[in-house]
Amino acid sequence: MSEAVLSQILLSLADVKLSQKLLSDKVDKMQVDAALSKDAHLLSKTALYHSSTGQSDSDGDTVVSPTEKTESVTAAGIYTEKPVLTTYPGQKGVRPSKLNWGESDPQARGPVIVSHLANQINLRNAVGAYGGSYSIYRSLAVAMGDLPADHKPNFENTHPPISIKQQPQWSDTSKIVSMDPFGHLTSEYYKTQIEQGLDIRPTIAITRAHMIVPELQAELKRGAMKVDGKIIVNETGELNVHKAAIDPVWFLPGVAARLNVTEDDLRRSLYENTGGMYPDLITRPDLKVFLPPIGGLTVYIFGNHELLSDPNTRLTVRVHDECNGSDVFGSDICTCRPYLIFGIQEAIKEAQNGGVGLIVYFRKEGRALGEVTKYLVYNARKREGDSASKYFQRTQNVAGVKDMRFQALMPDVFHWLGVTKIDRFMSMSNMKHDALIDAGIKILERVPIPDEMIPPDSKVEMDAKIAAGYFTTGAIPRDEDLCRTVGRGWDEFQA
Ligand SMILES: [Zn+2]
Repeated sequence: MSEAVLSQILLSLADVKLSQKLLSDKVDKMQVDAALSKDAHLLSKTALYHSSTGQSDSDGDTVVSPTEKTESVTAAGIYTEKPVLTTYPGQKGVRPSKLNWGESDPQARGPVIVSHLANQINLRNAVGAYGGSYSIYRSLAVAMGDLPADHKPNFENTHPPISIKQQPQWSDTSKIVSMDPFGHLTSEYYKTQIEQGLDIRPTIAITRAHMIVPELQAELKRGAMKVDGKIIVNETGELNVHKAAIDPVWFLPGVAARLNVTEDDLRRSLYENTGGMYPDLITRPDLKVFLPPIGGLTVYIFGNHELLSDPNTRLTVRVHDECNGSDVFGSDICTCRPYLIFGIQEAIKEAQNGGVGLIVYFRKEGRALGEVTKYLVYNARKREGDSASKYFQRTQNVAGVKDMRFQALMPDVFHWLGVTKIDRFMSMSNMKHDALIDAGIKILERVPIPDEMIPPDSKVEMDAKIAAGYFTTGAIPRDEDLCRTVGRGWDEFQA
């Protein structure tokens, strides 16, 4: 066969492939249109989004009662008849509820709606699902029939015990892009819409609690800390604290700008690297908000929260990224728990002196590479001779990068709290420091972890980090020193 004939055949084949794809796309779109126009009809009957119809209840018309156990997750009416794989802007039936990120008035801003329920899927104004990574567990509960897909949370008495004063930063799209500044007051601000049947959930919850930390009990016992009755409540060492749990809510144009990438590249990467989980990232450029399936963060406030935004009040801060092995289980290969405890201790002392102490705890396990990667790196370190000079290279070899925490998004929570200045920053990380400075937050003093709190085996990590730019008040190790800082090998372990 001649080459010309062969290439002719190949061209025809490509042609056939293309028209097949166009056809299947058309069929797909027709199905979506059909599903959505059916729902649009249901929706118009319930007049969901018009606050003037305050008494209307979407339940009766469109959704089976939550109290009846459904036989199948596809029970009539809860979801669209055929799964809607994706939608397109301007598609028949698609009319996203307004969501104007950066508006200072919560009503003008509008609630975040991500529901896939048949009676509101066309009002979606964001991609993803409520609950971060826990949306997957919710899926299991629904699949197993333990949870009605259309369960309506009862928000009675769930409101915050303290009020976080609205700050100008809340409506600055360059300052808050990774959380919803109104997320703690959702059930108040959007009460009418919730009562009308829209699935709108808080992405922030604030509560108050007592906590006990064994190391701080010991400090109290040896007289290094004192009971004041307000922060340290009693001789047992019970601590008074307010805390806020925050789920991520990403304003994609803002996140892209912060990471210095285009919004298109960000969307494409999110789509591809979640296994194509959220096609709307690609097909709905008009939806600017994404609720990613990742962990969020928790804020612990010691002292008077109202003073957080007062530049004349002293503030001690520890920004901590999760390290379960050390934080909870006491692994001695790193300084995570000791530094966290030191941060809490200094935060409490600041609060006892009339200032405020703040701990911000991010779910970014193992530099956001995850615990599996972390343990693989540990193995490589221990098998190949653990030294500070090779510390970062080992991570690089396994993960391809040294760090994926992207501190650029971290300062958002400080803007939310109205913090403009940190007196004592309990961290040696240049990345955290630079991110806060770039966000316009002043840092007056950086406080390294005291030497006596550093476990011997974690010296490898500490020296490597200092050599790579971490803050220290001591000497910066030279290359030859880094080779001499070695960790424990595996031969010391007893089988
Ligand atoms: Zn650690």
